[in-house]
Amino acid sequence: MAELKIELITIGDEILLGHTLDTNAHWIASRLTENGHRLRWISVVGDNASDLRHQLRRAWNRADIVLLTGGLGPTHDDITRPIIADFFDDNLIPNPELAERIRSRFVGRGLKPPPGCHLLAEFPSRATPMPNEHGSAPGIHYSLDDHELFAMPGVPVEMKGMLSDYVLPHLATIRSGVFGYRILRTAGIGETRLAELIGDRERLSPATLAYLPSVDHGVTLRISCTGADTGEIDQALQKAEDYIRSRVDSHIYAAGDEPFEKAILDMLEERNMKLALAESCTGGMIASRIVSVPGSSNSFERGFVTYSNRAKTELLGVDENLLQKHGAVSAEVAAAMAEGARLKAGVDIAVSVTGIAGPTGGTTEKPVGLVFTGVSDGDGCEVQRYHFIGDRDANRRRSAQAALVMLWRRLKDVLPQTGVKV
Ligand code: AMP
Ligand code: MG
Repeated sequence: MAELKIELITIGDEILLGHTLDTNAHWIASRLTENGHRLRWISVVGDNASDLRHQLRRAWNRADIVLLTGGLGPTHDDITRPIIADFFDDNLIPNPELAERIRSRFVGRGLKPPPGCHLLAEFPSRATPMPNEHGSAPGIHYSLDDHELFAMPGVPVEMKGMLSDYVLPHLATIRSGVFGYRILRTAGIGETRLAELIGDRERLSPATLAYLPSVDHGVTLRISCTGADTGEIDQALQKAEDYIRSRVDSHIYAAGDEPFEKAILDMLEERNMKLALAESCTGGMIASRIVSVPGSSNSFERGFVTYSNRAKTELLGVDENLLQKHGAVSAEVAAAMAEGARLKAGVDIAVSVTGIAGPTGGTTEKPVGLVFTGVSDGDGCEVQRYHFIGDRDANRRRSAQAALVMLWRRLKDVLPQTGVKV
């Protein structure tokens, strides 16, 4: 069965002017996806009659379902209602039931109905009003020639109520195919290398795979598939996931929405280990990521932000001679920072990072983007060297991620519960 072709048009000059972020499009897209549908097109038009007519014609021709948001209010810039009526060769006629509902909304709250609100009750004669629980303007639903159009208000809370209470239940009754997906999250490996390891895309069929890289949170893999029903889709997704795991399982830290920090904190807790951090160029960024996870206090003991040499010596006990001899950005100092943080904090494992974030401070020997991360536990200390090529912000975020990747890999080598190395 073919998948429904769904198009969304968001309407409003404020979006095109950059005054309002089109959060409606994002929200609608994600709710549709959650419900097994997939948007095929999204477009934005201003409060302009001919642009809206043009876009409506195109959408009605190519899509099965057309969703609109915006421009349903009573003011002169709200043109959606008359344009839609005109598009379907329909008339706006007074609807007494709607008029009473709108009036009683105001009266019920002890307010006088504003002038012009009766205009909202002039409704296209062949459309069905969609109730608005959070505002005055009703939505408009047309069902014609196997096509459907749903026009919702632009105010997010009104749109959300209408989509959840009316549009999604309605789409469920006319669905002709289901869309499903799974998310696998990886860390410490680039998309090119992942693609190389996963290899043959045919093996994933009928599912398809998307690589979604980010600067500082690893590459997300999205496996998706369409089919007749959820059972068929689950089977295809499972087959694809099994294959992907057989190739790159060691790089996957979670399925679904779980953030990397959460996976790491769970591992610390399972191993009954406490963590400390020693941060230089990241300035507390790693600590902030760790602490963003509820319950982090179970495993996170403390973080040291040791930006100056003096702080590294005073707080972490890094030997002044070491700093003199190798410089603060060096493998030796990264190791001493991790070791020092572990001992000073009295914990099982500590991670350090020291680097040159830029844009100034680089030399030929130690260029901008040179970063060392270290990890220290009872079994010793390990250091990694990186050379990132980015601006200050990207270099710092990548440094934080690199340090977390190092910690994660170290933790994978320790058995849960026992704390014994594998
Ligand atoms: P409207 O229904 O077009 O009169 O829109 C009313 C208000 O809803 C606007 O002033 C915006 O603040 C908000 N709004 C409209 N469209 C969107 C959108 N696509 N995303 C987020 N907010 C919106
Ligand atoms: Mg508007």
